Amino acid sequence: MADTVIPCPAATLLAVQGTPARFPVRRIYCVGRNYADHAREMGHTGRELPFFFAKPADAVLNIAADAEGVLPYPPLTSDLHHEIELVAALGSGGRDLSVEQAAACIWGYAIGLDMTRRDLQAEAKKAGRPWDAAKGFDHSAPLGPLHPVAETGPMTSGHIALTVNGQSRQSGDLSDMIWSVPEAIAYLSTLFELQAGDLIFTGTPAGVGAVVAGDRLEGRIDGLGTLKLRIA
Ligand code: MN
Repeated sequence: MADTVIPCPAATLLAVQGTPARFPVRRIYCVGRNYADHAREMGHTGRELPFFFAKPADAVLNIAADAEGVLPYPPLTSDLHHEIELVAALGSGGRDLSVEQAAACIWGYAIGLDMTRRDLQAEAKKAGRPWDAAKGFDHSAPLGPLHPVAETGPMTSGHIALTVNGQSRQSGDLSDMIWSVPEAIAYLSTLFELQAGDLIFTGTPAGVGAVVAGDRLEGRIDGLGTLKLRIA
């Protein structure tokens, strides 16, 4: 390996259920407005082509299966929102994938939170500016351990839900996605060459809302267990 003039940044590694081996993260892509009820609550109707934004790989906040993660309340917002999402992790990639090829690229699934500085997003939308500051801040991607698709099978249906302090906030079914996970990945592969290590946040059901310091979030997706997070 070549000498480097500064230390190489550490790779982001995800825990994998049932093995000490880790999954290295390359890129994080997120699908916007992929459940009709959430699209409606954000003021949109009808089926549009999927669109994507990104988070930096080191925005991941790893949370072990039996632990409660801690998210420091991020700066420059007073409207931090939760978005519970199914996350697909790619074991292979490619360009211009068919839906069947895209499905075959999925290595595993995890529960993720697409944490969002909603006030900064609203300002960016109004000004026609990018969403990076709203979506890609430090620790904006809390993630539970990956479950290999070899064990879960393709995740096309199942309950997805989030509570805050024990109160139900988001509840939906994976089958309510506007674009299925393989469809979203296939479309994404027309924009970017996908590679092993890429993560896809697949959108959130309705019920997004604000959290404050001290709140306790519990996300749940059938077959993937729970994801616990406290806002500090
Ligand atoms: Mn989202």
